[in-house]
Amino acid sequence: MTKTLKTTSVINCPGCGYSAVETMPVDACINLYECKNCQKLMTPESGDCCVFCSYGSTPCPTSQLEQSSYSIVYEYSPKPAANQV
Ligand SMILES: [Zn+2]
Repeated sequence: MTKTLKTTSVINCPGCGYSAVETMPVDACINLYECKNCQKLMTPESGDCCVFCSYGSTPCPTSQLEQSSYSIVYEYSPKPAANQV
């Protein structure tokens, strides 16, 4: 049952290209992030739940959970057993 969630993400500033490693909270979405280099305020792009989904190298833990549950559903589709007679 234990999933390994990545809680760090490299967030890239769309303004200056500066990248910083940030720790993502697993129980909250970050909707506002200030670039440490140029102080540009980043907000999520439409359709993204947080700035890490928009600008980070790793989607936020919430999205990771959603994606992994989807892939499990796909992978779990039962296949017919081998051709044993
Ligand atoms: Zn910046």
